[in-house]
Amino acid sequence: MEKNSTLEQTDKQYLWHPFTQMKDWLENDQLIIERGDRVYLYDTEGNKYIDGVSSLWVNVHGHCHQKLNQAIKKQLEKISHTTLLGLGNTPSIELAKKLVEITPKGLDKVFYSDSGSTAVEIALKIAFQYWQQTSPPSPLHEMERGAETAKGGRGGVRFKTKFITLANAYHGDTIGSVSVGGIDLFHKIYKPLLFKSIKVKPNAKAIETAMKKHHQEVAAIIMEPLIQGAAGMLLLPKDLLKKVRQLCNKYNILMIVDEVATGFGRTGQMFACEHEKVSPDIMCLAKGITGGYLPLAATLTTPKIYNAFLGKHEELKTFFHGHTYTGNPLACAAALANLEIFQKEKTLKKLQPKIKLLQKELQKFTKLKNVKEIRQLGFIIGIELKGYPANERTGHKVILEARKRGAILRPLGDVIVLMPPLSISEKELKKLLKITFESVERFLQPPANG
Ligand SMILES: *Cc1c(COP(=O)(O)O)cnc(C)c1O
Repeated sequence: MEKNSTLEQTDKQYLWHPFTQMKDWLENDQLIIERGDRVYLYDTEGNKYIDGVSSLWVNVHGHCHQKLNQAIKKQLEKISHTTLLGLGNTPSIELAKKLVEITPKGLDKVFYSDSGSTAVEIALKIAFQYWQQTSPPSPLHEMERGAETAKGGRGGVRFKTKFITLANAYHGDTIGSVSVGGIDLFHKIYKPLLFKSIKVKPNAKAIETAMKKHHQEVAAIIMEPLIQGAAGMLLLPKDLLKKVRQLCNKYNILMIVDEVATGFGRTGQMFACEHEKVSPDIMCLAKGITGGYLPLAATLTTPKIYNAFLGKHEELKTFFHGHTYTGNPLACAAALANLEIFQKEKTLKKLQPKIKLLQKELQKFTKLKNVKEIRQLGFIIGIELKGYPANERTGHKVILEARKRGAILRPLGDVIVLMPPLSISEKELKKLLKITFESVERFLQPPANG
């Protein structure tokens, strides 16, 4: 008790938490996690909770997995960090090879960074620079040429510089990734800081219309595959990804797929792109890449794009981008162990019956009158509540109920999210669903004493 209250006070004195109204944080009791074991989190008072959202969508094989711990320790004894700027390091090389092997065909080059947002920034900058370094001069209308030059175009060359993005998209919180985002609640205030992108509804017709109209100026389209996560687990139309691939080929536009949330087994396949047999030109990976142990991200691309950056030093075709901790050996060692566990423990195979179990058990929620819709893609679940004013924060109240019953969740507004570690057992999964059901059911009627 003593320990917790002191720590909590210190937290409240010194920390600023992400996506958190700190006034609420300061006014309420807070949980502090001390350790984890498999799918469980333990707070400083020894209470045990199922990690129902995989510590923000990252954990894959559970906490404190011996193989992962050992891989990190083993690397720790060799070296923790050395730079990729002008040097190579062992785990980053081995991992790059593995990533190329397991990702869709054609993605043969790996650029590392450390978060989903940076993976997206890198994808955008690569796409932007690619067209500058490959576009042949094109005749322009005189007035247009003047305008282009003023904007930095070079002597009669019009570059493809714009991005098509989807409504409700989420690609991270840095300025570039927010520029291609579409969630007003998070993004609106920063509008003056952002570059303009072409926002379209997430359907094939709207995308084709935009491409047809703007293809000469569009460098790339960026999208989350199959499901828009942070928007509230919104499922995209079936085959949209495949259709976008075809449209990108037709209109000569690069396809960037953001698999930050969906990658590493989350959807039931290693990557969501596999469901529709799509190979993007650029793919962003982060979250589950290290099994949820250390920050690491990768942006993969094709030889065609990579080759456009080759040239003599003085041609300045270099990709001038690099974060200090790029290719960190500890994180890469964790990522290698993560992939090894996928193989050794047959994670994807064992996941399939659990996905079916989820499908079946989630049916029960349809009986609850305060549930509007249940959305599922593999191990991604969104349970949307209905009938509550947004400012009542019912989603938040539901997860506090779940906490009392032994599960840690984090909602997206009034969408209750379930994203358990892939390693969760059927029994634990049932328990998590039971806790969630009871916590949602609790709000069928207003509680008696407020
Ligand atoms: C979480 C997420 C990001 C951002 O990743 P960070 O590591 O938080 O920067 C980007 N894209 C998608 C689809 C995500 O879910």
